[in-house]
Amino acid sequence: NLPEPVLEFDHVYAAYNGAIAALHGVSLTVRKGEITALLGANGAGKTTLLKAASNLLPAERGQITGGRIRYKGRDVTADTPHAHIRNGLVPVLEGRRCFKSLSIEENLTTGAIGRGLDRAQIAQVLEQVYDLFPKLKLRRNSLAGLTSGGEQQMAAIGRGLMARPEVFLLDEPSMGLAPLVVAEIFETLSRLNRETGLTILLAEQNSAIALKYAHHATVIENGRSVLNGPASDLAARADIRALYLGGT
Ligand code: ATP
Repeated sequence: NLPEPVLEFDHVYAAYNGAIAALHGVSLTVRKGEITALLGANGAGKTTLLKAASNLLPAERGQITGGRIRYKGRDVTADTPHAHIRNGLVPVLEGRRCFKSLSIEENLTTGAIGRGLDRAQIAQVLEQVYDLFPKLKLRRNSLAGLTSGGEQQMAAIGRGLMARPEVFLLDEPSMGLAPLVVAEIFETLSRLNRETGLTILLAEQNSAIALKYAHHATVIENGRSVLNGPASDLAARADIRALYLGGT
């Protein structure tokens, strides 16, 4: 009785500069309403896979060189980044890169561009984001560049939420943040997933926290998916922890 697939990677290959292969045939099924974790070391190919799913590789002189990506049953491999967002497949890939000279609220509002929301809808989603991240509400008029790393990460996630995602693609939400802030962010993502059914595919090097919150996990190694299963199974296997997950 697994939930239905919403995002499917079918033997996806990708390369940079026409030569440097980064993905060697990754297959992965992301199911509706689940949190799926992409685990693996630095350089394994996690970011490349998320960029492939948003068609953002060409901007990095990269491309999908084989395989297919399907979203809600449709082949979206060649869809533009803008079309992906319009269809609810929303990436938050720049880590916590914000527009530093814009306020937090302006940063959030930019996330609604391209979704065709009217003013009232923007105000409504903004309130939802502030409800999830009360800290952002307190800092709504602060320049993003003057807020903490955690607040910037929350703003990046909030900006993604402004596009009203059905599937959220998150790259390393924990990067560079203190453990308490990481826990707060994962608690909020988990709450979003439980309360709204938001499907989340997230890349993480912090496998301990990712496995704690994910339903399903895949380990990527050298551009290949080498392990795949329920997060609780992966978390329970000491051999996996030692080999792939930093022994934590
Ligand atoms: P990280 O956690 O460091 O982001 P990752 O698992 O996300 O690691 P990728 O960033 O997807 O890994 O990198 C996969 C491979 O592709 C690596 O060998 C990397 O050097 C290479 N690569 C990534 N981006 C580029 C680029 N813009 N140009 C050339 N090679 C790249």
